[in-house]
Order: sequence, then structure tokens, then C-alpha cells
Amino acid sequence: MIWNKEMECMDRQAMERLQLTRLRETVSQAYERIPFYRGALDKKGVKAADIHTLADLQLLPFTTKQDLREQYPYGLFAVPLKEVVRVHGSSGTTGKPIVVGYTRNDMDTWTEALARLITQATVGPEDITQIAFGYGLFTGGFGLHYGMERVGATVVPMSSGNSEKQIMLMRDFGTTALVSTPSYALHLAEVAKNMGVDPKTDLRVRVGLFGGEPCSPGMEAAIHDLWGMRVTDNYGLTEVGGPGVSGDCGMGEGQHICEDFYLTEIIDPDTGAPLPYGEEGELVITTLRKEACPVLRYRTRDITRLMPEPCPCGRTTLRMRKIRGRSDDMLIIKGVNVFPSQIEVALAEVTGATMYYQMIVTKRGYTDALEIKVELEPAFFSDDFRKLKEIERNILRVLKRVVGIECKITLVSPQTMERTTGKSKRVLDLREF
Ligand SMILES: [Zn+2]
Repeated sequence: MIWNKEMECMDRQAMERLQLTRLRETVSQAYERIPFYRGALDKKGVKAADIHTLADLQLLPFTTKQDLREQYPYGLFAVPLKEVVRVHGSSGTTGKPIVVGYTRNDMDTWTEALARLITQATVGPEDITQIAFGYGLFTGGFGLHYGMERVGATVVPMSSGNSEKQIMLMRDFGTTALVSTPSYALHLAEVAKNMGVDPKTDLRVRVGLFGGEPCSPGMEAAIHDLWGMRVTDNYGLTEVGGPGVSGDCGMGEGQHICEDFYLTEIIDPDTGAPLPYGEEGELVITTLRKEACPVLRYRTRDITRLMPEPCPCGRTTLRMRKIRGRSDDMLIIKGVNVFPSQIEVALAEVTGATMYYQMIVTKRGYTDALEIKVELEPAFFSDDFRKLKEIERNILRVLKRVVGIECKITLVSPQTMERTTGKSKRVLDLREF
């Protein structure tokens, strides 16, 4: 089912005309109402009237996370506070959060975007959906909550944490859809098993909507394996309003972007130059429908590529590939680009290895060294040295093929690596530059 055929299946040219109109509106709104943007646009000598085609997007200044931080708390609001009905903020662990505001119309737009991606994930009125995202300043919990209500699903607003109770409610309420971070879904499966509950056979969860952190193909496979559920990925970030930028349709690869709300481009992260469709680079987002917090060319640091090809599902909107990692998370080890998501893909292939791992990068002399600690599955934990060596060798073999680097593997006992309900810390870079 398609939630909004008119918008999601719009003719490409009509969509681009709509985007151009909205882009001009957004630029003049930012110029007239937000001193920060007036300054940045004046510096570039650009006004809304200079935007004649979508390619003129390049004339506009970028917005960075640092810019948003410096405008804390309300510096980037384009409307008076009395028109703002909600604020959210980034989950930033250090310092002050990035604050975004929503007018009544923004809430409606946001909910519409979520209704689309929830419908794409096949969730509807028949579903009982457990939201295990944190509620609060974080955009994920409330975002999905409102979207789920709009499509008519029954919402269980459980929030994150309290894992044993999560499993109990899943069983008692007959939960069919789970909303959480992918790492938390892995953790919940483990908690269930410890309670004597097999998520595959004793629970009815048939689909998961994951976000809040990149869900690599490796994690997807691991979650599917443990839960037997359909795994869907969706994308968004606080800085542009939260989840609702794009979501999986289940047909092959890529997540459909809500293009009437978001204008996307890919740039070279080093030079800032725009890259053509199909090339991998940093995703940059311009909002097209925000009243309270319009954002011009936000640099997400997320690495992906855009796919303009028609999708078998019937939607005509541009798709983005699964996020390969954040440019901030990319490690260069012995000159090779390495993303944690690639390690996950490798681990998913090896019997006996779990998705709980940590990458430790050090420098010996002038040479980088990578050690990966990998937690064993309980059933494969043994004091038979040869069996452990075999798992180690298998991991090394797959890593060499998938990532192309040599490293040291250290297997650790089950249940010894840190579990988190949110984004997990998988990389420890101890090199001094
Ligand atoms: Zn599709």
C-alpha cells in the first residue's frame, strides 16, 4: 500500500517543479527571518531570486552541526516562540543539545512523512506496535508515535530500557511491530532467550522499523535471524526535524526520500563539490516545508548515494542507499577506508560470532594495527582451543574478503561486551596523530 499516491508517485518533472518552488520559498523565508542565514546568504551574494533551477542549490551556503550549536537555543527559529508547539533536541552526550522547533503545520508535515514510511514498512491498523525508542528530547520516540497513530496502528509507548518488561509486554499484548535502534533489537533477543522466550516462535513480532543509528546489512541479517522478522531501515536526523527523511519499501535496495519535504544532494566530503547520481559521498539535506526551523544544505556527515532509477514498488521518488557510515566514523587503517558497518557484514557470515564487537586501532611505530574483539555466541563458547581457533580463522578470512585488511581477532566470552539501548560505541581509536 502507498500512503500518499499523489506525492509518492508524482511525475519526476512535476516533483522537481514543486521542489524548485518550495526551495525558493525556503530561501526567502530563511533570509527574511533568520539573521544567521541572512548573513551567510549575503556573504555568498545570493537571494531567492537567483535560484532558477534545482542546480542553483549549489549557490547556497552549507549549514554544519557547529552552526546549529552556536545558535543554541532559538537562534535558527524563523517564527516567534508562541507559534512553536514542540521542541526536540539532539542526544548530544557532551555540551548543549541542538534544538529544533515545530509549529502546528510542522507537526502535521512530520507526521505525514512518518505515515508514509510506516506504510512502506507494511505497518497499518492491524498492527500492535511497541515503541522502544526513548521518548523525550530525542526525536525518534515521539516521531514514530505520531506517525503510527496516523496510520491507525495500536501504539504501545514503552520507551527504551526495561528490557524484560519489553519482552513480557510483547508476549502478553501480541506485539507485531517493533520500533527501536538495531542494536537494541539484538539486545532484546538476547534478553528474551535468557527468559526462556524464543523471539522467533514465542513472539508475534513480524516487522521491525529501525533507526537512530546505521543498520548495516550485517545487523539486518543478524536481527532477521534471531527474530524471524522483516527488517526495515528508516532515516532521519534531529537537525532536519527527526525521522521521516526516508524509509525502506521492501523492494530491493534503497530508501524512498520524502522529496516534497526534503531536497537531497551528494557532495564530495573533502571539497564540497556536488557529485552525480550514483556516486558515493556525503548526504546534504535542505528542508522544503519547515516553518519553525528551515535548514539550508545541512551537511549530515552520512555517506550514501542517490538512486534515480524507477522502483518496482511504483513510487517515483528518489531513493538513497543504506547509510554506509558517517564520514566521522570512517577509519583509515593502513590506507584502507574501513566502516564499522563492513565489520558487521563480515561477522554476520561467521557461525559462532555475534554482532557484539569492538574495533581497537593502535599505531606500532609507523604502522596501524587493528584488533577486533568479538563476542562468542553462548552455544559456541568452549574450552576446546581448536574450535575457537577455527572461528577466529573464519572471521579473518571473511574480513579479508569484505574489508581487505589484516587484523588481530580476540574472541571474548558471551555476555561480556557492553550492551546499550541507543547508539553503541564500537570504535576505539588509540592512535595519536
Ligand atoms: Zn520502492
